[in-house]
Amino acid sequence: MTRVVYVNGRYLPYAKAAVHVEDRGFQFGDAVYEVCEVRAGHLVDEARHMARLARSLAALGIDAPMSAGALAHVMRETIRRNRVRHGLVYLQVTRGEGPREFAFPASDVSRTVVCLARPLTAAAQDAAAETGIAVKTMPDIRWRRSEIKTVMLLPAVLAKEAARNGGAREAWFVDADGFVTEGASSNAWIVAKDGVVMTRQIDPAILAGVTRATLIDVLKEEGVEFRERPFRIEEALQAREAFITSATNTVMPVVRIDGKAVWDGKPGPISRRLRSKFHQFAVISSA
Ligand code: PMP
Repeated sequence: MTRVVYVNGRYLPYAKAAVHVEDRGFQFGDAVYEVCEVRAGHLVDEARHMARLARSLAALGIDAPMSAGALAHVMRETIRRNRVRHGLVYLQVTRGEGPREFAFPASDVSRTVVCLARPLTAAAQDAAAETGIAVKTMPDIRWRRSEIKTVMLLPAVLAKEAARNGGAREAWFVDADGFVTEGASSNAWIVAKDGVVMTRQIDPAILAGVTRATLIDVLKEEGVEFRERPFRIEEALQAREAFITSATNTVMPVVRIDGKAVWDGKPGPISRRLRSKFHQFAVISSA
């Protein structure tokens, strides 16, 4: 449970943490965010997360709320005050508050910054990875700028809820041409019959996952053949393995898609190996 939340310069008790009702994040989803893994008290791949935050802000024309160093300090202080050793830190930046008008507010309106940190049970994550997870496919009804990490997450919310009701932990979005774009909150991967690891290329239809980028480093170092190209559900169902990547899951094996087993319905050796190697390649910085 998060105990202390950073809101606009103050560290507040959870129950007291609030933003204005006319905050543009609340009114319009006019906000971006990042989620970074905290492992043994350290931040994982912080530089890549902060670089993506800067890209998201720039894409929407939201000025950075403070220097990168100050943001890093806020994240560390939030982790420290919540005594998180394993878990996540969440940072959101909105365009600020003001009378509800669609067009941007005056340039002197300051951004809203919220940061919270919460523990995750590593054992529960590892147990899920031991059995693998199920995914449910859904039409990708999101906007065409999914490369920007905005809080406009309603399609992902609906997809995750439908997945959960169907006994699955993640949803895989499928585009109008029948190709998997990505998960509701993860990138999607398969290991083809010939052992080639595949994931969709970076384009505006998907978020450039930090875990995805680091995993590509792992694949290169380990000499695993990989290709960035889109794949269809039928291909995933004939694949030897499937998995997802995200900061809080690292590499999580997928063993069922829409109720059908991937290969023998068990996590495969490549997914397991990549999961076990991941943190050797991620950049770990002190928190
Ligand atoms: N795609 C989407 C839509 C996501 O929400 C996430 C989680 N942030 C990812 C991919 C994975 O990104 P990352 O590896 O940076 O957590």
